[in-house]
Amino acid sequence: MAPEGVVLDVDGTLIRGSEPIAGAIGAVETIRERGLPVAFVSNNPIRTRKAYAERLVRHGFSLASEELITAGTITAEYLAREHATDELYVIGEEGLEAQLGEAGLSLTDEYDRADALVASIDREFSYDDLKHALWALADGTLFIGTDPDRTIPTEDREVPGSGAIINAIAGVTGREPDAIMGKPAPSAVEAIERTLGAAPKDCLVVGDRLDTDIAMGERAGMTTALVRTGVTDDRALADSEIDPDYVLDSIAEIGSIL
Ligand SMILES: [Mg+2]
Repeated sequence: MAPEGVVLDVDGTLIRGSEPIAGAIGAVETIRERGLPVAFVSNNPIRTRKAYAERLVRHGFSLASEELITAGTITAEYLAREHATDELYVIGEEGLEAQLGEAGLSLTDEYDRADALVASIDREFSYDDLKHALWALADGTLFIGTDPDRTIPTEDREVPGSGAIINAIAGVTGREPDAIMGKPAPSAVEAIERTLGAAPKDCLVVGDRLDTDIAMGERAGMTTALVRTGVTDDRALADSEIDPDYVLDSIAEIGSIL
């Protein structure tokens, strides 16, 4: 296939912990040399787009912040479009609150007044947060999760992600979220289409996670490539019903499928 746009996951695909993956910087340059638009798409909702782009530039990648899509930007865009006047009660970190504020949304500390609860990774998540979420959702308040990632890979071990907190809230309320943003949700595909200016069927997606990167690509009709540098090992791949079109040892091999 000759793709018209490329979607790149970040953690486990371009970066592992705090180091670029060998060959990843050159791989991005290869894509650019072919004249293809690139979208860097991360389910990390913590950093603002600007802070996240700066982090990648520090690692040696060349990109503009407009090429970056995060679960935070997807959540903010969705809420600004569909629930612009809602008062949001946020269980999440400051970087997420900043992104929602920048999108013109209004945040409240009063769980009883909230029109929507936004649940996300929060490294200071507590019993009180769970209690306030239970109370906020008691009267049919909208329940939105930023991204489904249950865990996040770090240098040595995985740590709990947004999915863990969303599931805790779903557990105590007995209620599933009304929507979860980020990959593999349709809201992520829409953001990608806008950024790349290409139809999903003409895009190649490269990522390390079957249930987010590859599942999103499969559902949207993209060509999919799994890299072995992240969370998916051969056993997980063999056991999965999600079947990538290509499996690469790392993104360094991307030239072979462009
Ligand atoms: Mg990843």
